Amino acid sequence: MPDTNMDSVRTTTRERISIYQPEQEGLIFPEIPAFETFEAERKYRKEHLVAACRAFAIHGFDFGFAGHLTVRDPEHPELYWTNPMCVHFSQVRMSNLILADHKGKVVKGDYAINRAGFVLHGAVHEEYPDVMAMCHAHTTYGTAWCTTGRPLDMISQDAAAFYNSHAVIGASAGAVAVEKESGWSVAKEIGRNRGVLHQNHGLLTCSRHSIDDVAFWFIALERACQQQLMIEATGIKPQIISQKTAEYSREHVGSDYIGWLHFQTLYSHIATTQPDMFA
Ligand SMILES: [Zn+2]
Repeated sequence: MPDTNMDSVRTTTRERISIYQPEQEGLIFPEIPAFETFEAERKYRKEHLVAACRAFAIHGFDFGFAGHLTVRDPEHPELYWTNPMCVHFSQVRMSNLILADHKGKVVKGDYAINRAGFVLHGAVHEEYPDVMAMCHAHTTYGTAWCTTGRPLDMISQDAAAFYNSHAVIGASAGAVAVEKESGWSVAKEIGRNRGVLHQNHGLLTCSRHSIDDVAFWFIALERACQQQLMIEATGIKPQIISQKTAEYSREHVGSDYIGWLHFQTLYSHIATTQPDMFA
């Protein structure tokens, strides 16, 4: 029986955009759904936002009230769905999501918003109308690596997903981005990159594709920081992959679609094991 939570369908002769899409017909494989109404698309985006929050809980990304994920509303792209403040990532569900405008005013939902965090998200979304979704959290390894002020070395195929698409931002490093100016000063740089290492603060990812894509690459960025710290701790000089290989990996296994596809594994697991996410 196919898992209906997986948004999977039996493969058809649809155009292939990735080498991972099976050439053989009739197999179960995740497909990006098409929507006939804003309502259906909104429900999908909200469900995947909830799953992204719960994926962050599974990975131990909670740190008090720090951390926020945003995704645009399909009908009102100037508004964003986000997680409620002071609710553990594992407790985020369909009914406690909030909808906010650029300024962080809650226009739908009962919970307060994390204003300090939303300033940054709001600024990036406003500056780049095509940025669909963003993630930020104060993770252990990401924040630790951010203190070095160094970008990631291309030590693996996974790290290569961030080849020429991540940056270290030192501006207003460590300061709580509660003021508008602080948000604007870094928003431009964030929107130009898949991942940002905000020095002495934490990680951010942004996507022009989906909440699935941005959440998966956030998990991957934290993992890349962990691996970089582990290698540094050994004192052994790692072999760096070539520019050509890094470019190839970035294109073929580091695309937005691949981020979306990776996340479907997590989505299926969470939707199946945590059905209260839909309440
Ligand atoms: Zn923060």
